[in-house]
Amino acid sequence: MELNPFDVVKRQIDIVAKEMGLDPNITKYLKRVERALIVSIPIIMDDGSLQIFDGYRVHHLTVRGPGKGGIRYSPEVTLDEVKALATWMTWKCSLLKLPLGGAKGGVCVDPRKLSRGELERLTRRYTSEIINIIGPDIDVPAPDVNTNAQVMAWIMDTYSMNKGRSIPGVVTGKPIEIGGSVGRESATGMGLFYVLEAMYEKLNIILKTQSIVIQGFGNVGGWIARILYEHGCKILAVSDISGGIFYPDGLEIDKLLDWTQKGNYLKDYSDKRYKLITNEELLTIECDILIPAALENQITQDNAHNIKSKIVLEGANGPTSPKADKILFDKGIHVIPDILANAGGVCVSYFEYVQDIRAYFWDIDRINRELKRILLEAFEEVYKVTKERKIALRTAAYIISVSRIAKAIELRGFFP
Ligand code: NAD
Repeated sequence: MELNPFDVVKRQIDIVAKEMGLDPNITKYLKRVERALIVSIPIIMDDGSLQIFDGYRVHHLTVRGPGKGGIRYSPEVTLDEVKALATWMTWKCSLLKLPLGGAKGGVCVDPRKLSRGELERLTRRYTSEIINIIGPDIDVPAPDVNTNAQVMAWIMDTYSMNKGRSIPGVVTGKPIEIGGSVGRESATGMGLFYVLEAMYEKLNIILKTQSIVIQGFGNVGGWIARILYEHGCKILAVSDISGGIFYPDGLEIDKLLDWTQKGNYLKDYSDKRYKLITNEELLTIECDILIPAALENQITQDNAHNIKSKIVLEGANGPTSPKADKILFDKGIHVIPDILANAGGVCVSYFEYVQDIRAYFWDIDRINRELKRILLEAFEEVYKVTKERKIALRTAAYIISVSRIAKAIELRGFFP
């Protein structure tokens, strides 16, 4: 069943509003976005033909500071998906007490079908189209699905050329040579690991004894796979858009990362011991920790009953629907929600932004120390509310995040 991600967002707001008795005016206010820019991106392709792509940039709420959120390139991008992703960024930044708001962008394109030149022209034209609503004090984009440090470098350059000076603070996730931060690439994976470790301390179970299944093997899935593999955990299955591979004795993650980093699909990896599976089959493998790290709406009411893990650690944004959330909660499965679990990315993006503005750069020890401190503080807060109110971790995380935002809205008032 197709779920509209922005309907999911509104449903999640209703759930938390009811739980915390939120002012109805604020509830209504949170269910819309501040602005949504739709742009058309005409590109002359290498064969001389013109192709036009749709692009979006959305600000959900900037009441606590400039917008922050990634840019996604995918043929499935829709305005409602970008609105949902922008809203989740608002909750995430607030949960971590970052002085930033929620934003997101997307272009409806399959970048694998473009040449490098076409991709660069698309990125530069998209940047030019959204130039009036991005900037270090307005909204600071970052990488998301199918975008990377090179794409961020083109955005930074296009913005800077238009303004007549170098402005590295316009995007994060840039290459280190032009103002990027050490530790940004691994940040989301490191954050997932810190939060998971903290959860396991509470459960009093040794993390390295646990078996893991991961959907998505890109930045987020690949890094958490590497970190848990090096930690000693057994990774039973991983997948990408082509499908998954499964080996009950544990996959050799280092070799698989070498393979996919060369641009290959997992399904084409030849090891006779590994069984090919579909993305749907992967989600229902018996394991200790399931990590959806691809796209939203993967665990729904249709398959939630068949999930056999003890923990769902949300690497992706919005992978679990509200109905599935309820099913998992009733089954006693702990869902560590996206706005906490994968917040390492925006946290180190914030560090990168601060470093760019101050023109003073930190070392990796400082990055990881500060990342861990901020995430563990948020985790402890969420865990405390979960225990006190006997509610799901997601509801607790939302209560904390939305309360902070509601207070900011009250203090600023509704303009005029
Ligand atoms: P990515 O492009 O680096 O990797 C995405 C992975 O998912 C790839 O392996 C791809 O093959 C796979 N995939 C794509 N479509 C799929 C499908 N239909 N079924 C199964 N697998 C599919 O993207 P990423 O940056 O790793 O982002 C993954 C998720 O994590 C997204 O939800 C994103 O919003 C979220 N996220 C990313 C960051 C970050 O720092 N990059 C931070 C927080 C959250």
